[in-house]
Order: sequence, then structure tokens, then C-alpha cells
Amino acid sequence: MAKISVVGTGYVGLVTGACFADLGNTVTCIDIDVAKVENLNKGVLPIFEPGLEEIVERNRKAGRLSFTSSFEDGIPGADIVFISVNTPSGSEGEADLKYTRAAAQSIAKQINRHTIIVNKSTVPIGTGDWVADIATNHIMPGYSFAVVSNPEFLREGSAIADFMHPDRVVLGSTDRSSAEKVSELYRPLNCPVLVTDLRTAEMIKYASNAFLAAKISFINEIASICERLGADVKTVSRGMGLDKRIGPSFLDAGLGFGGSCFPKDVRALAHMAAINGCHPQLLRTVLEINRDARRAVIQKVRDSLRGLADRRIGVLGLAFKPNTDDLREAPALEIIHLLQAEGATVKAYDPVASEAAKRGNPDLVICNDPYEVAAEVECLILVTEWNEFKHLDMRRVKELMAGNVLVDGRNLWEPADMAALGFEYHGVGRPSHPNHEGAGHQVVVNMPQKANT
Ligand code: NAD
Repeated sequence: MAKISVVGTGYVGLVTGACFADLGNTVTCIDIDVAKVENLNKGVLPIFEPGLEEIVERNRKAGRLSFTSSFEDGIPGADIVFISVNTPSGSEGEADLKYTRAAAQSIAKQINRHTIIVNKSTVPIGTGDWVADIATNHIMPGYSFAVVSNPEFLREGSAIADFMHPDRVVLGSTDRSSAEKVSELYRPLNCPVLVTDLRTAEMIKYASNAFLAAKISFINEIASICERLGADVKTVSRGMGLDKRIGPSFLDAGLGFGGSCFPKDVRALAHMAAINGCHPQLLRTVLEINRDARRAVIQKVRDSLRGLADRRIGVLGLAFKPNTDDLREAPALEIIHLLQAEGATVKAYDPVASEAAKRGNPDLVICNDPYEVAAEVECLILVTEWNEFKHLDMRRVKELMAGNVLVDGRNLWEPADMAALGFEYHGVGRPSHPNHEGAGHQVVVNMPQKANT
């Protein structure tokens, strides 16, 4: 079993530290946020992630997992140190590496034996070499290190399962034996491990996220064409997804992608491409379609209510996706901001992200449940498809509302059902009028069809 340190205890670092401890390693997590560390030492988690609290508690009690804000305490003696600090967007869309730089310096200064430094953060191609330069400049004479890239693919909301059952682990290094040592940590997970060079590993992460974001923007573009031509994108997506070459995941039309990864990573890749003489037109378009998806909602609401000034609007869901409290680049925040900017009053409910949203937007009225949101509003917008919204009593919702406009940003409800309840229903890429009731009707027959030759 290895002695591991994890620098940065956010969504990735905390899950990484807790899961490696659960696999039997001794893990010290280091964060510069002193309050966060104090809370973690009391068992209070800084984030909402299903199942994480139990794993942290179990391993803390077993003495395999500890937290500190001191690099002097957390680095010496470690075999492997993971860097999992945030790499946010800079002003030009580039990845801002100030936290990575600071982490690499602090780690290198405390190394007192041969240590493997692993970049788990999503970092631009070439960062592994740059971290090696930083470490060389700060390490004490007589000690040595190696750098490995190990990008993380977990998703917030299912982070533990994703970490414990990855589709693959990617390792990049110029030093094969260091990559193999890191690979040992993942052996209990029994998953494919791809070992390559540093730059290729770094690129696999960006290319994967950009591809998934492109899939979302692709279906959103198809959705807006469907809307004009009277087809139903939900059935189009199902019909496409049954094709094994395409697959059904990331093929749901909606309000576009948000969160702390897809937008920033597509921007960073486009930036890397542009400053290296490429013309990343596909990546730029992916971002543009994503922006348009949010603006299209505003236009639907504005048209339905004949203006937004003094309108009362309810929003269901604030987090950027279900099962997380993460509000970074959440579509709801932008939509609410745009509605308020045109004079609307907005109230909202989210199972876990309400308080944080209120701190960033004091004019937002926070409600205790979805029915309180519906009360007296002229329009209700579903932004995040939390499970609890799937079981709402929509008849009651309709009765509570002052108006009848329902904007379903995630195609959660059936247009005909909502029309029957008296809603003016607007999905994404779906016909909303009763005369289109039959559109998108789907029958999936399991029997192979006879070829019509
Ligand atoms: P986060 O913002 O949730 O957490 C980062 C943590 O690092 C914070 O607690 C911060 O205080 C700490 N930190 C910053 N500088 C530090 C330093 N010098 N020393 C010690 N701690 C420091 O970030 P995150 O969402 O966990 O993302 C981390 C990285 O992983 C990013 O590069 C991100 O793109 C990537 N990633 C994120 C996800 C995800 O779903 N969140 C998935 C895969 C990859």
C-alpha cells in the first residue's frame, strides 16, 4: 500500500483521496483553504456528492485519511503526490495555471525522498513538462522526482462510482517505471490502463470533454431545426442513439452544457489551438451553440409573456446538473440573470444549491419546494432535471400558477400531457401545439424487420 498525498480537496481531490484511502492506502489531503480543512477534520464536507460523506468518515476513523493545510506536514514521506487543484478559465479562455504553479512549488520544496508528482487536474498540453521545470527549480539538492499525467474523468453526481469503476485510466510519463507505480494504485479497480507520453495523456482529457460537449451542441442544433420543421428531437435522439456507432449518451437536447469542466475545457482547447496556429472552428461553434441554447429560452419566455418587465417567473433547479451542488457556469444562473435584466422577478428552488445561488444573486427569491415556486408565477421554467421534479403533481402546479406557460428546458414532460392539463408547453426541439400531438410518437418493435428488397 502506498503513502499518498492529494493537493486540493475539491470535487476531484476529495473523491480521489477518499477512494484511494478506501482501497487501503494512507492518504493525506492538503488544501490552502484553512476553513475547509478544519471542517473536513470535523467530518463536515465542503461539497454535496452522493456517498462521499460515508467514505470520508469511514477512512478518517480508520486512520487512513487525514486533512491538513500544511505542506510541511503533508508532503514529506509521500510516495505519490496528486495535484488536483482548480484550473479555471483565464480572460482569453486559456486555462489559468496559477494554482497549479503554486501547488507544484509548495510540493517540490517539501520533497524529502524520490516522489512521483501526478497531475490529475485538467491542464494544457505541455503542463507536465512545465511542472517538472518548476519542481527542478524548487526541490532541495539531493532529492529526485518524476512527473506523471493522470487526467480524471469522474462526473459530479456519480463521482464515487465513476472513480471506482472507470472506463479507463490514462497515464502519461516519460518515466515508464513511475507510470507503472501509479498504475499499481488502480490495480484493484480492474480497468483498462492506457500508458502513453505526457502530452498525449493531457490531450486525451481535453479531446474527450470537447467531444462530449460537441455531441450536446450537435443535438441542440438539430433541436432548433426540429422546432422549425415540426419534428420531435426526443425521438430523433432516440432513433440516433440506438445506432451503436452513435450511442445514446450526451444526446439529450436542452439548455446546453454547464459546470466547471465542459465550458472551460472547450475554451482552453480552442485557445491552445489558436495560439499554436490552428483554426478551431468546430470548438468555437460548439461554444456558440451552447450560448444560443440559453438565449433561446429567454426568447420563448419573452414571446409567450409578451415581454419580461414585471413578469413573475419560477425556475426549477439551479445546480448545473442533478445530484450536485455545483453552480459553476450553471445555465440557471445565466437564465435568471437575463430574465432579471429585462425586469422579471424570479423565484427558484433547488434541492441542494439554493443558498449558494442566493449568495451570488440577492434579488433571487428562494423557495422551500417546487410548489412554492409555482405559486402565482406566470411562467415556470424547468432548468435542472432533479429526480424529484419528475414526480411533481403537474395538475397542482398548474392550479397554483397565475399563468400557464411551462418551459421545459430538459424535455422532462410530454407535450400532449401538458397541453391536456392546460399548459402552454414549450420543450426544446419538440412540437408544443395540440395540432402536432402525433409528432414524435414512437413505437419500438423488438422483432427484426424483414428487409424490404
Ligand atoms: P475545486 O475548485 O472543486 O477544488 C480545487 C481545490 O484546490 C480547492 O479546494 C482549492 O482551495 C484547492 N487549491 C487551490 N490551490 C491550491 C494550492 N496551491 N494548494 C492546495 N490546495 C489548493 O476543483 P475541482 O472541480 O475538484 O477540479 C480540479 C481539477 O480537476 C480541475 O482541473 C478540473 O478541470 C478537473 N476535473 C474536474 C472534474 C469535476 O467534475 N469537477 C472532473 C474531472 C476533472
